[in-house]
Amino acid sequence: MKVVFIGTAGSAIAPGHNLPSILVNDTILLDCGEGVARFLADRELIDYIEYILLTHFHGDHITGFIGLAWYYWLKGVKDKINLIGPRGTREKLGGILSLLSGNPEKIFERFNIIEVEPGKRVGSVFTAKASHSIPALAYRVEIEGKSLCYTGDTAYSEEIVKLAKECDLLIHEATYPPGMEKKARLDGHSTPVIAAKVARKAKVKTLALIHLPYFKLGENIREIYLKAAKEIFPETIIPREYDTVTL
Ligand SMILES: [Zn+2]
Ligand SMILES: [Zn+2]
Repeated sequence: MKVVFIGTAGSAIAPGHNLPSILVNDTILLDCGEGVARFLADRELIDYIEYILLTHFHGDHITGFIGLAWYYWLKGVKDKINLIGPRGTREKLGGILSLLSGNPEKIFERFNIIEVEPGKRVGSVFTAKASHSIPALAYRVEIEGKSLCYTGDTAYSEEIVKLAKECDLLIHEATYPPGMEKKARLDGHSTPVIAAKVARKAKVKTLALIHLPYFKLGENIREIYLKAAKEIFPETIIPREYDTVTL
């Protein structure tokens, strides 16, 4: 399984950092942060996307979908792209797409929209309820005996611990710095400490921290985040944009 981190920043873009988006095996997108269409077009991958998995409808996770949907509409696609998201996905995206076109249904024709209840699965994609300020899903993808779990935005969640059980790679958000666990929980977010505890409890192989607030706290937080997480879960990495992990 090949995992490319297209965007690793939380909440807003920052120098050298895009918003959350992860590409799996060149065909599956996890979230659609701004700039995804540009990334995929430059690498001639944009016509090969088969699945788009959206965790929730906060701007940092979906702004890239607009560019993608526009492209697929104009270009046309041979097979429909499977778009998986939480309940209300069609209505929410319809609202966004209606700003772009008088007939969003035409754009929707390019997609096979699948709204999933937390805990349900679609083929090799498993879901759990994330603990966030709006309805949000975490995903687990299993391919060729390898497994990846992506939390999207979430506070500590037992359901995510279960979802991530013994997976090869847990991509967990870490929005707040270590020491701000209480504030993080109240806002439906995590710190590197919380992410590391989830990784340890779920007995995953590797933990990757994303959704870091580079726009507010700058580049130096990498060191602080990594140290805090590694004290609890040594096999932690903080990927940079376009880093590739092969499982
Ligand atoms: Zn976010
Ligand atoms: Zn969010």
